Amino acid sequence: MNDVKIVIAGPRGNMGREAVKLVDRTDHFQLTAVLDSKILGQTVAEIEGLPSLEAPVYTDLEACLAEVECDVLIDLTTPEFGKKHMEIAFAHGVRPVVGTTGFSNEDVEELSRTAEQKGLGAIIAPNFAIGAVLMMKFSAMAAKYFQDVEIIEQHHDRKLDAPSGTAVKTAKMISEVREEKPQGHEDEREDLEGARGADYNGMRIHSVRLPGLVAHQEVLFGGEGQTLKIRHDSMNRASFMPGVKLAIETVLKIDQLVYGLENIME
Ligand code: NAP
Repeated sequence: MNDVKIVIAGPRGNMGREAVKLVDRTDHFQLTAVLDSKILGQTVAEIEGLPSLEAPVYTDLEACLAEVECDVLIDLTTPEFGKKHMEIAFAHGVRPVVGTTGFSNEDVEELSRTAEQKGLGAIIAPNFAIGAVLMMKFSAMAAKYFQDVEIIEQHHDRKLDAPSGTAVKTAKMISEVREEKPQGHEDEREDLEGARGADYNGMRIHSVRLPGLVAHQEVLFGGEGQTLKIRHDSMNRASFMPGVKLAIETVLKIDQLVYGLENIME
């Protein structure tokens, strides 16, 4: 099997660093370039804290994909750039694997249409942690029996979007099996705006942002005389890499956009 040629956007970020290490240590993966927001070195090896790799550093994805071989673009940047990067990747016949969160439904629909027109595989996974995907699946199972549910997600305080993509995805999966129902007392009021969190089909989502946290989520179910908590914790960014590896291997075999790691896990 030929090596999978990979370009990583956002290599100095917390996720990007782990992705560079993943590609470096995986036999059949080859890093052909990185896309950074600034040039802090001509090659990856010159960037502090990154493995000693000779892959060149670019700031312009068009130029990068015109000059280097690339089968898969991994994007771990911001939603604003993530979408642009996906469009450029499609134009170059490159398959994107995107962990960047904060895409709107409209963005995903538009990108799906482009992937379909081009016949190219693409994966957007708001959460690459396999344990988090299981948490979502178990929550959807539980919601068939427990209609009353609230979601609490907790992340580090550098996260830009709220609620997290995982919380929204969990709420979506639950709402596919749960009849819409406003959570809490029918006459409840917020004495302080936002106290009851965001409203998704009557379900409440609460977002906590604190230094020291990585990515955590608890789905709380309540019933007569019982509660059920389904919780997942990502302790560090390495926890996401088995999911990134699975997505890279899968994106080469599909010809459409798949949203969510759960849709590529058997
Ligand atoms: P981070 O540490 O802030 O890293 C983002 C990196 O992207 C930074 O190095 C930033 O460079 C770079 N960047 C921004 N714009 C760029 C551009 N146009 N071209 C190239 N690089 C650019 O964030 P993170 O924690 O790694 O997270 C990155 C993304 O992944 C976020 O959207 C986050 O929500 C998401 N995330 C996803 C998962 C998942 O499992 N899917 C898990 C954790 C995080 P500068 O510092 O110079 O701006």
